[in-house]
Amino acid sequence: MTRPVIVIHGGAGALTRSAMSTEKEQRYLAALSDIVASGQRILAENGSALDAVTEAVRLLEACPLFNAGHGSVFTHAETHELDASIMDGRTRDAGAVSCVSHIRHPILAARTVLEASQHVMFTADGAEAFARQQGLEMVDPSFFSTDERRQQLYNAQAGSGRVILDHDGQNDPIDPDRKFGTVGAVALDSAGNLAAATSTGGMTNKQVGRVGDSPIIGAGCYANNQTVAVSCTGTGEVFMRAVAAYDVSALMEYAGLTLQQAGDRVVMEKLAQMGGSGGLIAVDRAGNIVLPFNSEGMYRGYGYVGDAPVARIYR
Ligand code: ASP
Repeated sequence: MTRPVIVIHGGAGALTRSAMSTEKEQRYLAALSDIVASGQRILAENGSALDAVTEAVRLLEACPLFNAGHGSVFTHAETHELDASIMDGRTRDAGAVSCVSHIRHPILAARTVLEASQHVMFTADGAEAFARQQGLEMVDPSFFSTDERRQQLYNAQAGSGRVILDHDGQNDPIDPDRKFGTVGAVALDSAGNLAAATSTGGMTNKQVGRVGDSPIIGAGCYANNQTVAVSCTGTGEVFMRAVAAYDVSALMEYAGLTLQQAGDRVVMEKLAQMGGSGGLIAVDRAGNIVLPFNSEGMYRGYGYVGDAPVARIYR
């Protein structure tokens, strides 16, 4: 009998330890622990893995500490474009939205695509029209804005002018130039079903219309009851080219690797060799979990039902 478990992440990157006060660290750890606990409660009541990852990512989107939903980064044009995806390992049904800026909870839109449409991904205006039609909560794009993120955009534009991966330098313990803020969750439920969900604001100063790995099934998100559920964070372009999330599953299914071996192969070898920085979280059908990252740190947490939540930032 395997124990249900939930694993979450709030982005990976290089840590500026000098920017990390005890108080700040506690805020991140408390947010991660609370969200793990919410997922554990759902799983403890025999809720589905799909519901647990949906709720965990919804809470991560609602928390301004993380680059998804409220607190998302800005594009080059000082707008927001959010991406999200979800996959049910039981049926291998999936749903995703990309480039949306009026849907309060992109992960709920992805879930609705999974459940209420015959398609897998909707983008931009079409995604918003679908969400509206389905009765999801819509907001003005300014809802996603925070002063920290705006300052981060100005810093990026005044500085190198390049595209940077999440979070502000002053308030975030992870180096703003090497920080990935996507959020995600994976879970195994008491019925033995796996699910994965991923949501992001993308990268600060990104070009309008750019889409990363997060809403791409197989790249930033994947779940299959026969193997594993995976959610990624990192340099999206490399994760897309590596088909990172699916690669973990394929290594297990076709090459017979264990979860640990497959996760390490993808994150520490393949992605690293391709210049990809970041990490992933994964749970297999036996309830084993891994949280590998090749950056200095990754906001992460997990909890088996019946255990206290565990949250970590550093290696
Ligand atoms: N993977 C995300 C993207 O490329 C970024 C992140 O993980 O923060 O949009």
